[in-house]
Amino acid sequence: MNDNDVVIELRQRVAELEAAEARHKRVEKELIRNLEERLMTEETLRQRNRELALIHHAGPAFSSTLDLDRVLVSVLEETGRLLDVVGCSVWLVDSETGELFCQQATGPQGKAVRGWRLAPGEGLAGWVASRGESLIVPDTRADERHFKDIDEYTGLRLRSILGVPLRVRQDVIGVLQVVDHKINRFNVTDLRLLEPLAASAAVAIENARLYGAVHQELTQRKRAEAERERLLIAEREQRLLAETLREVTLALTSQMSHEAVLDEILHQAQHIVPYRTAHIVLLKDDTLRIAHWQGYKAFGSEEFISKLVQPLADYPLDAEAMRTRKPLVIHDRYQEPRWTVDHETAWVKSHLALPICLRDRVLGLLRLDSDVSGEFSAEDAQRLEPLASAAAIALENARLYEQVKRHAVELETRVAERTHELAEANERLQELDRLKSRFVSDVSHELRTPVANIKLYLHLLEHGKVEKHSDYLTVLREQSDRQSQLVEDILRLSRLELGKEKVEFVPVDLNAVVGQVVTALQPAAEAANLELFFEPGEGLPPVRAERNQLAQVVTNLVTNAIKYTPAGQVRINLCSDAECGQACLEVHDTGMGIDPQDLPHIFERFYRGQKVGGSTVPGTGLGLSIVKEIVDLHEGKIEVESQLGTGSTFRVWLPLKQGNK
Ligand code: ADP
Repeated sequence: MNDNDVVIELRQRVAELEAAEARHKRVEKELIRNLEERLMTEETLRQRNRELALIHHAGPAFSSTLDLDRVLVSVLEETGRLLDVVGCSVWLVDSETGELFCQQATGPQGKAVRGWRLAPGEGLAGWVASRGESLIVPDTRADERHFKDIDEYTGLRLRSILGVPLRVRQDVIGVLQVVDHKINRFNVTDLRLLEPLAASAAVAIENARLYGAVHQELTQRKRAEAERERLLIAEREQRLLAETLREVTLALTSQMSHEAVLDEILHQAQHIVPYRTAHIVLLKDDTLRIAHWQGYKAFGSEEFISKLVQPLADYPLDAEAMRTRKPLVIHDRYQEPRWTVDHETAWVKSHLALPICLRDRVLGLLRLDSDVSGEFSAEDAQRLEPLASAAAIALENARLYEQVKRHAVELETRVAERTHELAEANERLQELDRLKSRFVSDVSHELRTPVANIKLYLHLLEHGKVEKHSDYLTVLREQSDRQSQLVEDILRLSRLELGKEKVEFVPVDLNAVVGQVVTALQPAAEAANLELFFEPGEGLPPVRAERNQLAQVVTNLVTNAIKYTPAGQVRINLCSDAECGQACLEVHDTGMGIDPQDLPHIFERFYRGQKVGGSTVPGTGLGLSIVKEIVDLHEGKIEVESQLGTGSTFRVWLPLKQGNK
């Protein structure tokens, strides 16, 4: 072989190699393409598998329950697990407001996001819901639609979001959303995975919603029916209770006396809660006292119960019932450590006590006792409560009624007393009136005497001895003075009595005053055939007195002595007792004396002795009362000794003038 042949052969070899290489490259390309296709197919299969697995998991979950939240939780957990994302959430459209609210969310801040509300169109979920289109957001920071408040609130830095609308027929009912921290986390594959899931989730949600609505309606209807039933029963019970209460109230309020009311309470209680023994205790001074009882005889405790007195301090359970105004039900007193055991009622096993309350006051307790445990229930107490309220009112009424009755009796007594007093006063007034009429006539009579004397002395002046004229004139003057004095004294007495008298006390010579009076009365004594003696007091110091009043005292006493002495003498003595600082005026007569029956009365106004009253002896019954008034005013003292048929002695003690007083 020559060189040319070698070259040609080499060229052929090169061409063959090149052709082989080209073939090889083609095959390689083919292989790569096949490989790629296989990989793609595998990925599609895997994806399909995942999709199927998800749907496989979600499907039964959707159909197994109609509880919306359970449906959603299982879908979201499955989605999150398969896609391996931070969180998933379902947002539903509020048909009333158009807002989106987060119905369910899983992931670290699921709880915080749940219930969150977005305004229509707000945020990425809002965008998906309003457009009805799916959305892949590779980076939330670069997307203005992203609602950042949720991120701030939850503290989750979410970067990728994938949202798929939840559709039922034409309507978008919500959004299924998956989120993650990583940027550009989701692709179309994920979207394709989510879309069918969203479709079945939407159907499940709708079903659950419909079921919920139906269920809710059913529940509501059932509840309404139950409520109606309850109301009907309550109304029936109420009506029954009202009727009972009306009867009880009627029965109670028709009883007027306290005792009858108490009796009626126990009687009515028997109808409401049948009992064997019951009693009522009423509160007074922190102590419960028995008011009424029934049935204790059969247990041999009547004697004890009839005297029941329980200081609240010793009965803590009762004290508590009174304080809280709540019923006390003891099912078994052996189980109640605070129960106070009384030997006589040791047979009591169960007990019910109901406070009888009137507004904010507790009047007492209505108590039921039983020798069987568990006899009374809280319902019994409840049933008895209206009775207790009616009882409180009835008891109060009875109390008021009895108070009014007592008042009426008191009033009657008072009226009778007053009537009696008035009758007495009237009698006194009539007597006074009679005395006054007599007084007026007596005064007129009294006045006539000095007038007669004046006339007599005027006559003597005209026809008597001339040398006696001046004496006559003196007597005349004195008589006229005495007359006006008498009128004055009548006025003075009334003034004295009214306490209006303004008396000026001065030192008065008693001897002089008595001497003048005696002189003035001498003619009268002579006219009566009496001896009139005056024994002045030797060295008698002046008394502290009002002169005219003193003369009045002497005049009245001596006039009386003359008047009431038919025969004999009248003696006037004056003396003093320096030791007790008093002067004594003594008017003694041998006259008729004073009847012991008259003696206590002679100083009373208008009082005249029984014997002299109807006699011709003139008098007003005023003389001694004037004397007494004046003596009292002078802080003196008057006393009388008298013996019927023998005579009388009047003694007047007057204080002597002392020092400068
Ligand atoms: P009068 O003399 O106007 O009846 P008095 O008040 O002066 O009224 O006296 C009251 C009564 O006391 C007289 O009515 C009389 O019964 C009795 N009496 C007073 N002084 C004497 C006396 N000296 N002797 C007897 N009885 C007297």
